[in-house]
Amino acid sequence: MIPIMRPVMGDAEEAAVLRVLRSGWITQGAEVAAFEEAFAAQVGAPFACAVSSCTTALHLALLVAGVGPGLEVITASHSFIASANAVRYCGADPVFVDIEPHTFNMDPCLLEQAITARTAAILCVHQMGMPCDLEAILAIAARHGLPVIEDAACAAGSEIRWHDRWEPVGRPHGDIACFSFHPRKVISTGEGGMITTARPDWDERFRRLRQHAMSIPDTRRHAANTVSFESYPEVGYNYRMTDIQAALGREQLKRLLDIVRVRRARAARYGALLKTRPELELPHEPTWARSNWQSFCVRLPAGIDQAAVMQGLLDEGIATRRGIMCAHREPAHGVPDRSAALPVSEFAQDRGLLLPLHHTLTDEEQDHVVSALVRACALD
Ligand SMILES: *Cc1c(COP(=O)(O)O)cnc(C)c1O
Repeated sequence: MIPIMRPVMGDAEEAAVLRVLRSGWITQGAEVAAFEEAFAAQVGAPFACAVSSCTTALHLALLVAGVGPGLEVITASHSFIASANAVRYCGADPVFVDIEPHTFNMDPCLLEQAITARTAAILCVHQMGMPCDLEAILAIAARHGLPVIEDAACAAGSEIRWHDRWEPVGRPHGDIACFSFHPRKVISTGEGGMITTARPDWDERFRRLRQHAMSIPDTRRHAANTVSFESYPEVGYNYRMTDIQAALGREQLKRLLDIVRVRRARAARYGALLKTRPELELPHEPTWARSNWQSFCVRLPAGIDQAAVMQGLLDEGIATRRGIMCAHREPAHGVPDRSAALPVSEFAQDRGLLLPLHHTLTDEEQDHVVSALVRACALD
């Protein structure tokens, strides 16, 4: 069986977890602090705050950026459902704009017309690791005085061309960026997330809110030799990452560049093998973007049954996934009167097919995927 993804875990990760289990401190503590420091250095961010997932990272990011009841957040429907869910957690409404056909990312040309007096923030997504057009999005946001939050869940290790230099996605270039360490992403802590920002006041609020807004953290009370009592000035959350996860994350982070190098080579090889099949549309990397290829999504020809192709591949021992789902089509977020206005998003969901791509995928396995795909689509 060729899985869609396989996390890279080795002896270093095992030793790291064991070290924490034997240390006497297993929840958020010194390992989390060290992981945050290493992650901030990796992406070039002034501040990085670890949390329990990217979903909780997005929730805190939106709250701290001022999103609340009665307000709107402009985002992509064509994303994992967490993007839209996080907006709802704040009591606000997601307003969906369509995507560009070739990058699967928010179309900046449609952004300005979606802004209303209720718009509180823009939540853009670096979908499947492909950087979105931040330069255009940030220019529009600046004209309207709106904060920009980057859903960089898939984008650890991706790069964007910025002032004539390649920079890691999530520095952040907007106001806040949120990352995921779910096993479907390129590096994993089982579950986990990270919030980066350049604003010290916002970083401070993330740290409070992830821990029930506790005024004196438990780590500080534990280390003190005088007794002190904490207080809870506002309602916060338990969005902590554990030290077990953080220790894993520190080892995963050391592998990030190598993992991305291998994924890029595998994506390029899919491109070379499939370019003789013009019926299959391949993903497109703009000149200013370098994806980490968290997913490799081909578009199936018109008139082909997506589920039948996936079943055909599964019968040959190959796991695939359909294109990224559209939140507006789900009962949780259905906006029936607006759904017709997202044709590119719907097209991407219905025609997209995600192929297996992972660190240990071999040439033989990749050849098998390509020939099985050609058979399943009856292209020969
Ligand atoms: C995976 C993903 C998330 C959610 O990440 P979790 O860490 O699982 O909460 C959010 N947004 C996008 C675009 C994702 O792909």
